[in-house]
Amino acid sequence: MPPGSWGSSHEGMIGKQDSWEFSCSYWQRNGVITIRILLVEDEAVFAQRIRANLTEAGFVTDHAADGNKGWILGDTQAYDAAILDLGLPALSGLDILKRWRHAGSRLPVLILTGRSGWVERVNGLNAGADDYLEKPFQTQELVARLRALLRRSSGMADPTIRCGELELDTTTGVARKAGRSVDLTALELRILEYLMHRTERFVSQSELRDHIYSVEETRDTNAVEVHIARLRKKLGRGIIRTARGMGYRIG
Ligand code: CA
Repeated sequence: MPPGSWGSSHEGMIGKQDSWEFSCSYWQRNGVITIRILLVEDEAVFAQRIRANLTEAGFVTDHAADGNKGWILGDTQAYDAAILDLGLPALSGLDILKRWRHAGSRLPVLILTGRSGWVERVNGLNAGADDYLEKPFQTQELVARLRALLRRSSGMADPTIRCGELELDTTTGVARKAGRSVDLTALELRILEYLMHRTERFVSQSELRDHIYSVEETRDTNAVEVHIARLRKKLGRGIIRTARGMGYRIG
C-alpha cells in the first residue's frame, strides 16, 4: 500500500461505545509508519476499535484478549511497546507487568486505567509502567503517547531521525534523501525506521522479520530481502550496507 493511499482515518472517543465516530482525515496524508505493538485488552469491541486505529496510524498490532495470552506474547515475541489494560481475565494487567519486569523486560508499557483510578495509576507506575491513559480517551492521544514512548525508549526526543543525507519524519512517515521526498511503501518505511533507530549495529534478517510483521502476517525472510532491494533502488545502493551473516546497517 503506497503512502498517501490509506483508507479512512479514525478519530473518536474510545471507551464510550455510542460516541464513536469516524470523522477525521487528519492522519491519512502521508501514511504513517510504524513498529510492532502488543495490545492486551479484554473488551472485544473496544479492542477492535483501538486496533483498527493503530493500524490506520501505521502500527503493526497484535491483540491478546486475556491476561495469560498477553503475558506470554509479551514474554516471547519482539515488541517495541505494549498497551496494557489493567482489568483482565486470567491474569491482571498489573501481574503481567510485574512478571515482565521481574524477567528483566524493558518493553515500554502504556497502561489503560479506569476513570479516577489513581490507585491503579500509582500501582501501575510503581510496577514499571512508562505511561498511562485514563478511559475514555481520544485515539489521537493514544497514538501520540505511543510515539512519544517509542522516541523516549530509543533515546530520541526529536520525531525526525537523520542519518547523513537521509531523513525520516516518524510522525508523518515521510522519508527524504538530500531534501527530496522518496515514495516508500508501508513495509519499506517500517524497515527503514527500524534500521535508522539502530545505526550503531547490523540488524539480522530474522530480527527485521520479527519486528515488521504482526503474528498474523506471513513472516517471510526472503521478502525482507526483496524489500531491502527495493529500498536500495529508491534510496541508492550505498545507503544500506550488508555484512555476510550479520545483516543490514544504515550509514
Ligand atoms: Ca478490561
